Amino acid sequence: MSRRPSGTLESGWRGFVAQEFGTLAALDERDIAETVIDEPNRRLWRVVDAAYDRLIRTECGNKLSRGPVDCAACNLANGVRYVAIEIDQPGVPPGNEHALRVNVSVGRRPSGISWREVRERRLLLPWYGSHHSRCDQRGWAIVRCDLEIGSRHNESSRS
Ligand SMILES: [Zn+2]
Repeated sequence: MSRRPSGTLESGWRGFVAQEFGTLAALDERDIAETVIDEPNRRLWRVVDAAYDRLIRTECGNKLSRGPVDCAACNLANGVRYVAIEIDQPGVPPGNEHALRVNVSVGRRPSGISWREVRERRLLLPWYGSHHSRCDQRGWAIVRCDLEIGSRHNESSRS
């Protein structure tokens, strides 16, 4: 399975659709995506974000939540995406899932975030999904590279 975020979200979506509905046409998936975003608090964040990908806004022409800052629909979607459920994945440290989630959302909605933070979060994305990272309270990844470069990123940075 791919570690890339799109692969991560797609596998989450495929699992959700298969479990709840079986096999569906793309058109039906759009309808399901509409129902998912009606109650994002009842679904895993990966499913909600994948649902956003299936909903192109007429207001701005972008996938839901990825439009410009003056698109009200995208702003609303970005604001509510964090009500979705987050469950740590098996085999990775606690916090890894949150780190992945935050970095995916920043990458998709970089408006209002410094270019440096956006760049660094994008650079770190390939690390998620592996056992190499966890995150701090802000959702920043703490890459566990102490095996390679000593204790520069040590446990005290967890706070
Ligand atoms: Zn929009």
